[in-house]
Amino acid sequence: MLKLVVCIKQVPMVTELPWDEKTGTLRRDLAPGMMNPACKHALEAALQIKGKNSARITAMTMGPPAAKSVLYEALAMGADSAILICDRIFAGSDTYATSSILSAAIKKQCPDFDIVLCGAYTSDSETAQVGPQLAENLDLPAVAYIEKLEINGRKLRVRRLVDNFRETLEMECPALVTVSMENYLPRYTQLAGLEEAFRTNQIAVLDNKLLQIESARSEGQSSRTKVRRVFLRKTQKENVYFMGNPSVAVTDFLNKYERKISTVIGKSIEGKERTRGK
Ligand SMILES: Cc1cc2nc3c(=O)[nH]c(=O)nc-3n(C[C@H](O)[C@H](O)[C@H](O)COP(=O)(O)OP(=O)(O)OC[C@H]3O[C@@H](n4cnc5c(N)ncnc54)[C@H](O)[C@@H]3O)c2cc1C
Repeated sequence: MLKLVVCIKQVPMVTELPWDEKTGTLRRDLAPGMMNPACKHALEAALQIKGKNSARITAMTMGPPAAKSVLYEALAMGADSAILICDRIFAGSDTYATSSILSAAIKKQCPDFDIVLCGAYTSDSETAQVGPQLAENLDLPAVAYIEKLEINGRKLRVRRLVDNFRETLEMECPALVTVSMENYLPRYTQLAGLEEAFRTNQIAVLDNKLLQIESARSEGQSSRTKVRRVFLRKTQKENVYFMGNPSVAVTDFLNKYERKISTVIGKSIEGKERTRGK
């Protein structure tokens, strides 16, 4: 039986969220959460593997207690079990910490996995780093941004779009893929599936007492990057008026903006500046 692990992130349902200026973190509490779209495609890819092979799917997420809802959704779509990795000290994890924590959880709970599937990127941070970092931590061959996956024994054949051409690659299990949104249109989550997911409640919760991640002894400690300052870029546009007769207005305009527009108007001002400098 193939053992598949799908990493799923809960993301806010909006594209722009306010920041907590003190901590540099997103105020995720201000928007309802949903399953990251690319993770849904990864889950669909796993479900299609399960449709053709004997397979068992474990959905895994690291997040606050509210992230349980994406696990219920995964169970409703057809995952067999789910793991929530949840501890206050994991809050504010950067991608390095996130992938370290996820890999520790996979090693502990699913040591004999065959394939780890991730979304290609998330809609809220969009670094696309977690999948490849996870592969590195688990010492796995990996292909990112796949749009098709076939299994033949222990061999995995994947196809992906690279710039304008398609590339087919093969690797042996255990392996990791990140799934793009080109293909694997996620199935509809049935109400009956949700009812079943809540009734059977197959979600295991792991905290750091269980995971024993050395570097995560206190909140944010395992993150190597820290957001020092967060600010909204202010628009700096203003209307500027040049008054007087046209030749005065044009001269004033050029005095103020010639440097900025010189490449646009095809004029080099370097010589002029050198002359001015003498
Ligand atoms: C330099 C930097 C500093 C940051 N600092 C902070 C900070 O101080 N505070 C803060 O709140 N955030 C911070 N973040 C954001 C935080 O790192 C990310 O939310 C998190 O690490 C996941 O990265 P991502 O969303 O870009 O995932 P991606 O790499 O884009 O995700 C790819 C795939 O990885 C898997 N995945 C990603 N995250 C999870 C998860 N939690 N559970 C399960 N699977 C997952 C999913 O399959 C997902 O589709 C920072 C990010 C960067 C790059």
